[in-house]
Amino acid sequence: MEIHKFGGASIKDVSALKNLQKVLEKINIKKKSACVVVSAMGKTTNNLEHIYAEILKGKSAKQKIESLKQYHFKIIRSLCNTHNQKLLKTFIDQQLNFSKLSKKIVGNSDVLYSYIVSKGELISTKIVSAFLNEKSIPNTWIDAREYIITEKHVTSSSVNFKNTKKALKKLKRNTLYIIGGFIGSNQKKQTTTLGREGSDYSAAVLAYCLNAKNITIWKDVPGVLTADPKKFSRVKKIDRLTYQESIELSYYGASVIHPKTIQPLKIKEIPLFVKPFDKPTLKGTIISSQKSLKKHTSYIEKSNQIFLILTLKNFSFINENYLSIIYNYFETHKIKLNLSQHSAVSFYAVIDPVYSLDALIDELDFLNTKVIKKTTLFTMHHPKAKAISKLKGNNKVLLEQKSGDFYRFLVKS
Ligand code: ASP
Ligand code: MG
Repeated sequence: MEIHKFGGASIKDVSALKNLQKVLEKINIKKKSACVVVSAMGKTTNNLEHIYAEILKGKSAKQKIESLKQYHFKIIRSLCNTHNQKLLKTFIDQQLNFSKLSKKIVGNSDVLYSYIVSKGELISTKIVSAFLNEKSIPNTWIDAREYIITEKHVTSSSVNFKNTKKALKKLKRNTLYIIGGFIGSNQKKQTTTLGREGSDYSAAVLAYCLNAKNITIWKDVPGVLTADPKKFSRVKKIDRLTYQESIELSYYGASVIHPKTIQPLKIKEIPLFVKPFDKPTLKGTIISSQKSLKKHTSYIEKSNQIFLILTLKNFSFINENYLSIIYNYFETHKIKLNLSQHSAVSFYAVIDPVYSLDALIDELDFLNTKVIKKTTLFTMHHPKAKAISKLKGNNKVLLEQKSGDFYRFLVKS
């Protein structure tokens, strides 16, 4: 079994879908047992979130629903025969009819959220499946909610691997399956979602549970890059990374692969290929347990960070007791520390700018709190002295940290 995942951008319009057909032909998908995992088309999930927000306020979201329908109708009009157009149109009308939702759904905002946003993948998979069948790529559409079984919680759900494995036993060999990423269901048969951008993770869960030979994530970039091309010039493609390196890179903010994706693959040593969907014959990046001999310097930039300096009002040491109180505060308030460090009398933290600092200052009233806003956190993998000094320039370095092959520092933007 092979797993291939295509994100929203790779199925966003007619030419993208024609390219998907080409990619699948190039890799000889017809001769394989495979699951093709797809996201919702283009920006559909964002649009469904807007529809959800209106329905939550008791509105009908009529206009937004209509324009989302028209977006999909336009695609199927140019891709499918009249018979399939009719079937798909009826399916889309049904899926996007939110006028008579049951109390069980409307009564709980999380249930409502997952119910509505899951429609993107249900629709995209139906379209992809019908289109490929017409183009002589025979396939079977399956409903992800019957196979990806999650725990109780309906949003940002965690996967129940045991039940998912059991459900997947129904799949046959020598078949091409089309399945939606991002969605699943729990034991109560409620629709659940795995968190935004969760389709990579769905693909990894399938790979794990089916003991896949490999998994390919098809992207609009040549592979994993040494930096974000929008922020850095002279960006290179990385040929090879270990599971651990890619977990570290995505944890620190490299956005190519969803950070949760690697863990299940690492456990079973299933290789992950990241390949460009516009040039399917290129090698892309291989992520496996094998270490690369080449040491590319990679850069990750997280801007608009808040730098906190906490000092005890009574001038005593930041000992283990104070450390545990401070960390506990961040844990209970779900504040992710992008970096933390302490010295004899101070605790330093770098966090995203979404948190209310007034509450922190109130609650940790035994501390003096200094806040420096608008700082930038750089992470480098395999840092080189010349590259470091170029990146730092004349900026004042507020904090730095080195661990293994990673080096991070914070500067005032
Ligand atoms: N469609 C979902 C989202 O946009 C999942 C994904 O694309 O991975 O978040
Ligand atoms: Mg998406």
